[in-house]
Amino acid sequence: MRYSEQEWLDTLKGIFQGEVGFDIPMKEHTGLAIGGPADVFLRPEEPLSIRNLMVTLKKKGVPFFTLGGGTNVLIRDGGMEGVVLSLKEFGRVEVLKEGDTCAELFVEAGVPLQKLVNFCKEHGYSGIEGLTGIPGSVGGAICGNAGSYGCEMKDVLVSAAIMDAAGRLDRFKAEGLEFGYRKSGIAQADIVLSANMKLRRDDKEDVAGRTERFFFEKKQTQPISDRSAGCVFRNPGGSPAGRLIDEAGCKGMRVGAIEVSGVHANFFVNKGGGTASEYLELMDRVSETVQKKFGISLEPEIRVAGREIKG
Ligand SMILES: Cc1cc2nc3c(=O)[nH]c(=O)nc-3n(C[C@H](O)[C@H](O)[C@H](O)COP(=O)(O)OP(=O)(O)OC[C@H]3O[C@@H](n4cnc5c(N)ncnc54)[C@H](O)[C@@H]3O)c2cc1C
Repeated sequence: MRYSEQEWLDTLKGIFQGEVGFDIPMKEHTGLAIGGPADVFLRPEEPLSIRNLMVTLKKKGVPFFTLGGGTNVLIRDGGMEGVVLSLKEFGRVEVLKEGDTCAELFVEAGVPLQKLVNFCKEHGYSGIEGLTGIPGSVGGAICGNAGSYGCEMKDVLVSAAIMDAAGRLDRFKAEGLEFGYRKSGIAQADIVLSANMKLRRDDKEDVAGRTERFFFEKKQTQPISDRSAGCVFRNPGGSPAGRLIDEAGCKGMRVGAIEVSGVHANFFVNKGGGTASEYLELMDRVSETVQKKFGISLEPEIRVAGREIKG
């Protein structure tokens, strides 16, 4: 059952503080600039609103999707049923402890990952220099165990505060979160609210130097100023998916406005006005080509969500 705008406003009155929007185009909130409208788009301003919301959504049986920076998702053209929850208002970074060798930070999920990378660079905290240039939020980076240049989120995470779909809040140690290559055991229905992280103290100039060097390399090897969702496919076994796609001759392959990047073949870029169905078709064509050439099947790394357009 779809609730009317007035029913939503009545439901949220008194239990939810923050921005409320209806039929909000997800293409305005994703790195790819693709995605149909979310029925309801909510940007809570304090944690109690999230808890109240979870209890209400569960009671009403309304689905929800937590959105970080939208830089690793493909939202289908039919948009999102139910509620899309944005945690952008949760943007605090605080130093909890600073010892001679380590510092412990409290970081909210809505903090842009690059704000955290820059904070660490300015303070001489080492451990996430390799994550420079990765867009999106800290919450999204934790859920997908974002990584690059030998650094992964799991390496600095001490614990995370996670709310489940019933509104229960718990703190989990990093060891219990089943991190693996670009994945964690955090369920799609769980919401990461904040994290405690431990970083090594180091010379500020050394940390800054490494961060800048990685960023420079990233700019040479990834289309970071184009609209993309990062790596489309996971690396199968030892071989980088980008190399397989390149060697299968797919660089420059195009469906509509979506193109296999000439800079890095595992990035599909939206050249302007592209759609999710074009993106998905290009994924099929590329994986079929790689399958034929190497006998290897590629698995998506991006998260695909949302409903098909009714035909
Ligand atoms: C140019 C470019 C370069 C990139 N380079 C890299 C790279 O080198 N390494 C790498 O690992 N990734 C890379 N990425 C992919 C992407 O930026 C990362 O995976 C990033 O960590 C995703 O974060 P996000 O906040 O945008 O997540 P989103 O795309 O918003 O969400 C991803 C998933 O996490 C869930 N989620 C997000 N926030 C929360 C939360 N608070 N609680 C619960 N669930 C949540 C969403 O529901 C969704 O399932 C790159 C992307 C681009 C566009």
